Amino acid sequence: MTPNEFAATIRSIPDYPKPGILFRDITTLLGDPRAFRRAVDELVQPFAGAKIAKVAGIEARGFILGGAVAHQLSAGFVPIRKKGKLPHQTVRMAYALEYGQDEIEMHVDAVTRGEQVLLVDDLVATGGTAVGAVQLLRECGAQVVAACFVVDLPDLGGVAKLEALGVPVRSLVSFP
Ligand code: IMP
Repeated sequence: MTPNEFAATIRSIPDYPKPGILFRDITTLLGDPRAFRRAVDELVQPFAGAKIAKVAGIEARGFILGGAVAHQLSAGFVPIRKKGKLPHQTVRMAYALEYGQDEIEMHVDAVTRGEQVLLVDDLVATGGTAVGAVQLLRECGAQVVAACFVVDLPDLGGVAKLEALGVPVRSLVSFP
């Protein structure tokens, strides 16, 4: 599918979650059998022979995509969650929000030193969340091979931030 065809399956909701924000809702892509399969296939395609050990998905839509990507790559899956949701011992990383900061967590034994990990989320905007996830994974010794998103919003700078950290970015649709 072309980027325009993927874009046509994504719903845009003005003023959500607050006035002035145009929210890109990928639940419509997930609900479209062909678009969901093609999105997963295309996210995975460059990494088919890359010996990815784990796919790390960011709560919550990154779990849906990341689980499917991990299955395709015969990799394990690692959930990266908002603080307080994981039951075992965790490592925690603060990340920047538009105003202020929050924290994400991962189980301390979710990755081992030197493991090749692919990061997956639905969308990258300012990059705060994904950069926090990369830092968390690296702190635990993982090698972050790339970060994959269905959507990127290039004007908000997240892709550039990830690339500056040495993380290649793959996305299927850009909304300028
Ligand atoms: P960032 O940290 O500013 O890059 O925001 C990315 C995170 O916020 C991801 O986990 C996204 O799921 C979520 N997010 C931000 N904007 C949108 C949007 O327009 N649609 C869907 N998710 C969004």
